[in-house]
Amino acid sequence: MSTAPLRVAVVGGGIGGVATALALHRRGLDVQLYEQAPELKEVGAGVAIQPNGVKMLERLGLGGDLRRTGAKWVDPQFRRQDGTFAASMWPPEIASSIEFYGMHRADLLDMFASRLPAERIHTGHHCVDFEQSADQATVIFANGARVTADAVIGSDGIHSALQRHVVEPSRPLFSGSVAHRGLITAASVGWPAGQMRNWLGAGKHFLVFPVRANQLVNYVGFVTTEEQTRESWSAPGDPEDLKREFAGWDPMVEAILAQATHTFRWGLYDREPLATWTKGRLTLLGDAAHPMLPHAGQGANQAIEDAVAVAAILAHAKRDSAPRALKLYEQVRREQAARVQRSSRFNGALYEAAKGDLDERDRQLATQRQSRAYIWNFDAEAEAEKAAAAL
Ligand SMILES: Cc1cc2nc3c(=O)[nH]c(=O)nc-3n(C[C@H](O)[C@H](O)[C@H](O)COP(=O)(O)OP(=O)(O)OC[C@H]3O[C@@H](n4cnc5c(N)ncnc54)[C@H](O)[C@@H]3O)c2cc1C
Repeated sequence: MSTAPLRVAVVGGGIGGVATALALHRRGLDVQLYEQAPELKEVGAGVAIQPNGVKMLERLGLGGDLRRTGAKWVDPQFRRQDGTFAASMWPPEIASSIEFYGMHRADLLDMFASRLPAERIHTGHHCVDFEQSADQATVIFANGARVTADAVIGSDGIHSALQRHVVEPSRPLFSGSVAHRGLITAASVGWPAGQMRNWLGAGKHFLVFPVRANQLVNYVGFVTTEEQTRESWSAPGDPEDLKREFAGWDPMVEAILAQATHTFRWGLYDREPLATWTKGRLTLLGDAAHPMLPHAGQGANQAIEDAVAVAAILAHAKRDSAPRALKLYEQVRREQAARVQRSSRFNGALYEAAKGDLDERDRQLATQRQSRAYIWNFDAEAEAEKAAAAL
């Protein structure tokens, strides 16, 4: 009987795909990563790694990198638009036990990619089609390449080309909000190390946290709009629009925007949770499986959990049992990710409440530790190991 490692093709080299390739590589599987772009690259923006993500990065041996290149949050606070205090994200007395890091997206991507052998990364591969039989799966690329594997993981983002080979794609749902994002140096506004602030107003909010070992500050201005925008993370925005939207807010918001020279404009979409993620030897991961609004700050964290979980289960699979293993991965992850998708919508509405009792809203904001406990305490790897026993 062959003892060759399982061959896994990962399609899409964003944060979800590179994390998956690394997790599979560390488990000794024969993984190949295919990305359409000419190089692995991320946009200049921030991402927050929450306690559930920190746990997964530790398991991937990346805890040291995270602490070196991230910026640990200290005393994160919600404020009203005039700068008055609304709520702390967690009580100061438990601060030392909560690890939460702001990261530059490129630093996070590089953390995974730099540990993958170069010969496992295939850029310039745009997936256009997929076929499978009982014993193998084939991914077809626009450059004419055809790749066969025992299992294929579609981590090709919200516009996934592989999703339709699994399930009827659900329609993108526009949230009615756009985000304008950018980075400035921390020194330019004297931003204190580790401070996260989220200023909340009616139909708008402004989120700021440091990244890259506190050298840079990431800001995102969320604004309600009637104009449907593209589902894109990288369309250029106009800093002057953003300054107008937040004119008269806390002077620190205005000081940050005074430094903004270019911004990206990001139309906020999500989709209803999918009925299934897996068909035969093909499964979905990250935004291809569960695109979510950014208001729980969990898109990347959930993708990293998917990565660790799918690798833990596939490590126990053989060629014949690979389809069953992918189904078990889905069982471990789908409900949890769907719950987080729903809570991302809920958080957005809470942040931008226009009416009602704002004191009650602020009391709810102060219970993040309790309301996010099901997210922060989830151990995707332990759940996956348990599920793998059924193989
Ligand atoms: C500004 C911003 C802030 C965010 N903040 C947070 C945060 O604080 N915390 C958090 O957890 N999440 C956050 N998110 C969400 C998170 O970043 C995403 O959920 C996560 O990056 C999803 O990763 P992914 O790899 O699944 O998809 P993507 O990052 O979209 O990557 C998909 C990859 O697949 C490639 N691809 C697409 N189609 C094909 C094809 N046909 N063939 C080959 N390759 C293909 C693409 O080029 C891309 O590289 C944020 C997102 C943005 C934009």
